[in-house]
Amino acid sequence: TKTKTEEIIDKTSQFGANNYHPLPIVISEAEGVWVKDPDGSNYMDMLSAYSAVNQGHRHPKIIQALKDQADKITLTSRAFHNDQLAPFYEKVAKLTNKDMILPMNTGAEAVETAIKAARRWAYDVKGVGGNQAEIIACEGNFHGRTMSAVSLSSEQEYKRGFGPMLPGIKLIPYGDIEALKEAITPNTAAFLIEPIQGEAGILIPPAGFLKQVAKVCEEYNVLFIADEIQAGLGRSGKTFACDWDEVEPDMYILGKALGGGVFPISCVAANKTILEVFNPGSHGSTFGGNPLACAVSIAALEVLEEEKLAERSLELGNYFMDKLKEINNPLIKEVRGRGLFIGVELHKPARPYCEKLKAEGLLCKETHETVIRFAPPLVITQDELDWALTKIKNILS
Ligand code: PLP
Repeated sequence: TKTKTEEIIDKTSQFGANNYHPLPIVISEAEGVWVKDPDGSNYMDMLSAYSAVNQGHRHPKIIQALKDQADKITLTSRAFHNDQLAPFYEKVAKLTNKDMILPMNTGAEAVETAIKAARRWAYDVKGVGGNQAEIIACEGNFHGRTMSAVSLSSEQEYKRGFGPMLPGIKLIPYGDIEALKEAITPNTAAFLIEPIQGEAGILIPPAGFLKQVAKVCEEYNVLFIADEIQAGLGRSGKTFACDWDEVEPDMYILGKALGGGVFPISCVAANKTILEVFNPGSHGSTFGGNPLACAVSIAALEVLEEEKLAERSLELGNYFMDKLKEINNPLIKEVRGRGLFIGVELHKPARPYCEKLKAEGLLCKETHETVIRFAPPLVITQDELDWALTKIKNILS
């Protein structure tokens, strides 16, 4: 007879489009860093829904905000005002040191918003000729799955069969400042970059690179747009991954942990000179800025601050990374990361090791074939990390 897990997985594959390759586990309950399957087994979550659950699963304060708001009003559309949007704006504006916010729902939608803003800014403010605006992005990037996001991608499999792609895109090698300078033309609207590349395998740019980017972008009047959807909001051991180079991009793109893993919400944050290119009718979303998402997000950002999750990520991340580096196994090519955003690159495909870790009660997901990503909720304790280390050592030493 089948376990509940097997029954659920069978049914899921029977009716669902086959656009993911999940580990064979069903999660039906969760709290903090721990999740449970329907057959009663417990696992530690070291993926955090690709960093959307930085605050831990079902953080009580965020769940309370969700419940309280659900009892009042959940959706107005932007045809009317709601009372949660302004406090959300204010919170994000303070956090990012920007004076305008535009809310959406998912990461990819916020990326779309950034591209639209950059293009319109190029025409209306910079003076680029009609339909000539260019966006520069990086090889190996991941900005989502919408048509513009896959148009930005250098991964053929993300694009195959979906053409024609969006024009006006140039790619440069990640971390190559000379290539950026060479790629810029008078028509360049923006340089879009993940300050740490997540899906590419936790790739960190050379020290000082983002600072050089800010300088070059300013010099050539090009917008510096940081996709902090995965690396931001405490994940890298700082509030924003750009903070590692002490730079402020012209625009932040935020998502994932902005909703505390409880409700989808994303946004872009920039100054008025950029975001005021939008006028009524130029952009929007029925659910964007809905009061339920805004109330959840305010609580999610408060948790980040109150529990000093960025500092926690830095301290525990350094501890965990040092311990991982002590594992002596020729299979390990490199251990790298910032805060609790850690990649262990192997000389072999990582998937079988993720499956073995799952059997040990530890959930992570390979990224880019050979990298195991360790990105637990930032509320994890040192004892829990030690528990994880014993499991990792079981399969890697
Ligand atoms: N940008 C980055 C850096 C991401 O890591 C992701 C998701 O993994 C996205 C954009 C897309 O976000 P979403 O899946 O919410 O559309």
